[in-house]
Amino acid sequence: TKLNLVSFCQEQITLLKVSLGHNHQFTLTTPSNQCIVFLDEQLLWHLLTNLISNAIKYSPIHPDQTGHVNLELSWDAGKINITVRDNGIGIPREATSKIFEPFYRANNTGTIPGTGLGLSLVKQCAERQGGTVILIPPTEQFHGAGFTVTFPRDQRLRLNPADGPPVARPIGQ
Ligand code: ATP
Ligand code: MG
Repeated sequence: TKLNLVSFCQEQITLLKVSLGHNHQFTLTTPSNQCIVFLDEQLLWHLLTNLISNAIKYSPIHPDQTGHVNLELSWDAGKINITVRDNGIGIPREATSKIFEPFYRANNTGTIPGTGLGLSLVKQCAERQGGTVILIPPTEQFHGAGFTVTFPRDQRLRLNPADGPPVARPIGQ
């Protein structure tokens, strides 16, 4: 599907804020208001829902603090990056290599419920579209977990890096 990644993310944050994160603060960091991409809308929706709901569920560290969730978009002619960070409990070092395995849960989750399936779904949603997902190091502001999903920029847009309408190409050649 051809979609504007920036408004897609904005809408998804708005929906998840209402359903799960009304006590959380959300920020969207983006170089501009428009990034036209060709991605499967359903897969992207599942991917973002799982990353953002994790960020909500595992933040903040203490109940009397506020959970912060940041979505950061960046892109160039070849790649699109979507980074989701939070200020929550973070991922213990010994868990980092297993985090994308189905049913794996780290040992610092305490009573926070989960089945350990979300991130394996995120990985599949990324890979099915030629993308990757990696765990990234915490920052001072977002000292919890951070994930970056990277997609290759669609061929149709590589011909047209200025984000204009896609160039029509013959089908089946
Ligand atoms: P569910 O299947 O409901 O998503 P889950 O959240 O436990 O359950 P995953 O989303 O696959 O499963 O995440 C796997 C594990 O990775 C979690 O159990 C948790 O230990 C860790 N994890 C994932 N995201 C975060 C996060 N934002 N902060 C801290 N730990 C996280
Ligand atoms: Mg999850």
